[in-house]
This record gives sequence, structure tokens and C-alpha cells, in this order.
Amino acid sequence: MIILVMNAGSSSLKYQLYDMLDESVLAKGRVERIGLDASIITHEPTNKPEVRQVKEILDHTTGVKRVIELLTHPEHGVLKSMNEIKAVGHRVVHGGESFKHSTIVDDNVKLEIRKLFDLAPLHNPPAMMGITAVETNLPDVPQTVVFDTAFHQTMPQETFLYPIPMVLYRRHKIRRYGFHGTSHDYVSRQAAAKLGKPLESLKMITCHIGNGASCTAILHGKSYDTSMGLTPLEGLMMGTRSGDLDPAIVPFTMDKEDLTLNEVSSMLNKHSGLQAISGLSSDMREITEAMQEGNKQAKLAFDMYMYRLRKYIGAYAAAMNGVDALVFTAGVGENSVITRQSVCEGITFLGIELDRARNEERSNESRLISTDESRVAVLVVPTNEELLIARDTYQIMMEQGKDSGIVEIEA
Ligand code: AMP
Repeated sequence: MIILVMNAGSSSLKYQLYDMLDESVLAKGRVERIGLDASIITHEPTNKPEVRQVKEILDHTTGVKRVIELLTHPEHGVLKSMNEIKAVGHRVVHGGESFKHSTIVDDNVKLEIRKLFDLAPLHNPPAMMGITAVETNLPDVPQTVVFDTAFHQTMPQETFLYPIPMVLYRRHKIRRYGFHGTSHDYVSRQAAAKLGKPLESLKMITCHIGNGASCTAILHGKSYDTSMGLTPLEGLMMGTRSGDLDPAIVPFTMDKEDLTLNEVSSMLNKHSGLQAISGLSSDMREITEAMQEGNKQAKLAFDMYMYRLRKYIGAYAAAMNGVDALVFTAGVGENSVITRQSVCEGITFLGIELDRARNEERSNESRLISTDESRVAVLVVPTNEELLIARDTYQIMMEQGKDSGIVEIEA
């Protein structure tokens, strides 16, 4: 079964085409600058040269049309006809409380996603544009939606509620939702498989640390607590986001600096984190390079980042009354040797024993980086949110019986 995975942003579309027979990627690419002049399409068919086109693409519908043209192109394509695409899976950031699982798109689902625009004004409207664009171009192809928040819907009330008047939860659904759920879900399953243990038997802490960063306590396979909250601003210190702070800082800063709410919100989301403290960059590569060259602000930014990450890991170990496995993923987690070392060597009291040589090995595979004696297993697991979206979509299609995929798998 061929499945197209879509991730639509306000001016971009990322795609990956999977053959679910062996979960291979047939092609991937992105359309950037949609609605701006000189849109760029980068198309990477597997085993064929990359194609880069600069075209006018005014909206997502045209973007999807161009993607399908490339996927079926006689020279650059990987499909004979667009009829080979049996389903399209979309990444949607916010599923609120309505969506606890990935689901097939119908009118009700679209209505619910629209109702959630308020909670994710930057993310859900573009996802909806992606769905509509596919609907226009591939009207007979079923679509599914996979939510960043769904995995965290297992959190109990004591972890997802904020200690503020209950009326705010009842009226406006103000609560912790958590994000990066697809990634936390995927890496926890991979980690359990790597350890050869049932996920349900483990207490796990997963650290998705990239541009955005979040940490999740996964108790027996279910999200028990996670560091991002109502929005992806809460929790760990990030590239440009502050993460946790005293909420009183907001009115205080507005008053002292004569700033509007929007300006403070922009400051916390776009001009804080590593960027603000280092005064240099939001990118961990540049921070660590500068730190090694003696830049004091970069060192302070690094130290703060590590301190906050260790605090979360400690808190989640306490919350679950123990931890069996710690998992690092995403850009920083998968690539930054020094980050993993600094985090692990600061929390040895938990029973973590890092194997420095294993930690320094470079690989794109899931791997153990703790010693064989370590009480807590530490792993690096490359995340693959697109694959999980493809798998969920495939699963839904199989359940719906809309394809002859069973025959393909059994053959
Ligand atoms: P992501 O959001 O998962 O794509 O992660 C992107 C971030 O990963 C970048 O902004 C960098 O901060 C970080 N990153 C990527 N490669 C490295 C590396 N080799 N060392 C440290 N950080 C890295």
C-alpha cells in the first residue's frame, strides 16, 4: 500500500511517500514559500537525482498538485499514476481532548479540528489547508489525521490540570496537552524493542530535544506527564523559547518595558532560550562550539539548558517512583554527544552509568549508550514521526478494509 504523509505549515508542505510493504521511502520533499513570490519545491526521489524547482505556488492546493505531478513525473517520479496513492496521512499539531487516537478524516473530524483553531492558531489552520488541498487534488483518496497531542491524552487529571480556577478548564479547556506526542510514542516503542522488553513493563523518560524540546514520563507505555503544556512554550529551555518561568514575569515585564501582550508572547517564544542567554544562536552546535572556544555566555546558556533538563528527568523519575530507561531523540538528542554526557553525568544518583565510548559512536540506528551494568538503560533513538504517521494511516486503512493491503503483506 502506498501512503503519502503530509505536514503542512502556513507557507510550506513537507511530504514523504511510503511503500508500506517494507516501509521504504519512495520519495520525499518540501514546498516552501507558498503564497510568496518564487516558491521552491525540493523533490528527492529515492535512487534518483534531487529536483529543485522555483515556481509560483499561490496556495496549498497548487502545492499538492505540483507534488503529485512530481511523484508521477516520467523522469523524476516514482509512481505510474496518482491512483497508486491509497491514503494520505496528515500531521496535525492540536487534537485537544477530542482526539485520543489517529483517525480517518470526515466532516465531523474537520469540524472538530476547526474548533481547535483557537488552541493552536499557528498550526491547525495550515493543517486544515493541507487536508482541503489533498481533498481537491485526490478526491477519492481517504485521509487520516495524526495528532501531536493524542499520545498524551492518557495523562491523569492530577498531571494535566493546572492549579487555577476549574472554571477555566470547564469553559476554555485550559489544561496541559503536551506536544511531540508522535515522537515520544515512536521512540518509546523503538527503545523497548531495542531493550527486548515489553513497553508495558517499563518506566521510561523520553527527551525530544531539537529546536523545540519536551520531556515525557511514560509509565508502562502511556504518557503520564509531559513538559509542554497548553502550548509548546512550557517546560524545557529551548532554542528560542523560554520554557518554564514565573507567570508573574509577564505582567511585570509588560509594565516595566511598556510592552503589549503580543510583544511579551513573541519575546518568550522567539527571543528567549539559548538564543537570549548566549546572545549568539539558538542552535546547539554553535553554542557548544562557542563554549569550547571560551565564550562565557554560550557556556551559561549550555549550563542552564542542561540544568533544566536534568531537573525534569529527576522530577519524572520521582513522579513515576523510578525509571528504567532514558531516551534521547531529535536534533540535539540524536547528535550532541556533549549534551547527553552532561545530562547523564549530572544524574548518576538515579543509577545512570553512561558508557562514554558508546555515547561518542555516530550512527543513525537506535543504540544503547549506557554501560551494561547501568541500572537505568540510556538510549539514543532517531525519531521518525513521518513513519509513525504512515503506520497509523496504514493501520486505519486496514481496519477500514479499504485496500487490498493484507494481500500485499501476506504475499
Ligand atoms: P530538530 O528540531 O529536531 O530538527 O533539531 C534541530 C536542532 O538540532 C538544531 O537547531 C541544532 O540545535 C540541533 N543539532 C543538530 N545537529 C546537531 C549536532 N551535531 N550537535 C548539536 N546540536 C545539533
